[in-house]
Amino acid sequence: MPGIIDRYRDYLGIPNIPAITLGEGHTPLISWATWEQSDIFLKLEGTNPTGSFKDRGMTVAVSVALSEGAQAVICASTGNTAASAAAYAGRAGLPAFVVAPKGRITQEKMLQALVHGATFLTVEGNFDAALAVVRATAQANPAIALVNSVNPWRLRGQETGAYEIVDELGQAPQALVLPVGNAGNISAYFQGFRRYGRGIPHMFGIQAQGASPLVAGYDFENPETIASAIRIGKPASKHLAQEAVAQSNGAFLAVSDEAILQAQRELARGGVFVEPASATAYAGLKVLREQKRLPAGPVAAILTGTGLKDGDTPRRWVDVKTQSTDADHLEGTIRALLKEGTVHVAH
Ligand SMILES: *Cc1c(COP(=O)(O)O)cnc(C)c1O
Repeated sequence: MPGIIDRYRDYLGIPNIPAITLGEGHTPLISWATWEQSDIFLKLEGTNPTGSFKDRGMTVAVSVALSEGAQAVICASTGNTAASAAAYAGRAGLPAFVVAPKGRITQEKMLQALVHGATFLTVEGNFDAALAVVRATAQANPAIALVNSVNPWRLRGQETGAYEIVDELGQAPQALVLPVGNAGNISAYFQGFRRYGRGIPHMFGIQAQGASPLVAGYDFENPETIASAIRIGKPASKHLAQEAVAQSNGAFLAVSDEAILQAQRELARGGVFVEPASATAYAGLKVLREQKRLPAGPVAAILTGTGLKDGDTPRRWVDVKTQSTDADHLEGTIRALLKEGTVHVAH
């Protein structure tokens, strides 16, 4: 399967440049459940090459940067952008500089950026501070391409998530539910549905309570949540996201960290392991169900990234224990456990 540039080149509006690709996109849209009149689908964006949807935008941003003669790429990141930028820059043969808030990025995401050869810099403060210095640096150095979602090519690439859903369902779903941090992805999906011309879903953007500027209506100076990928107080694409929600008759909702962990657990018990930011979308979906705000028909939630990149958070709810046994006793042990009923999986 070709990556998203070769599949959707006509819609992306990019010139005839070579694609720097790792085979991103064509992620599974799984049928998860039927809730009253709503058919719930989950789009598993964690199956992208570096484990998050960021790859859709990065393939386009890095391809365009290389064709325009960039000598390096730079980004601020809560982790997944760093991993993606590092991988695609590696594929393109370009150096990558990633700037992260000190101590606020998971070990796994940092490791990803480093193994791909990126130069990893940390700054004091939060993501919003990191983005501000990175923007200034890119502005002062035209040969360094900024690959955050303020780069319009990132959003164009991320539109392809919407195209894929329409291709699969034959039409846009009735509602789309996704986590919102810097607000680029919700804006990209909205533009994607609009451009593809097969209907526009009600757009529901879900934020973590401690980092919910779009719900509160004002920026957060000190955003705080376990969902590190959406721990953002001043969303760069705020206005586009507000337009997406207003024009589609959707809403922004906030969910607690506790609800996020519960959602992560529920998904994982059903076979789908996502990071807390992605579980936020599922927690929002459950709120919409409780409030009877889910439309009839197909409803899709975007599960933005794999759970494997944040190994610490699930330790808050998973019981990390093993039992030793030996060849003579294995069968008897399992029989006893089944009888006890303690190994029964309850969703
Ligand atoms: C980046 C990211 C988000 C937030 O997307 P925005 O475009 O910043 O709103 C959500 N989940 C994961 C896993 C991410 O990496």
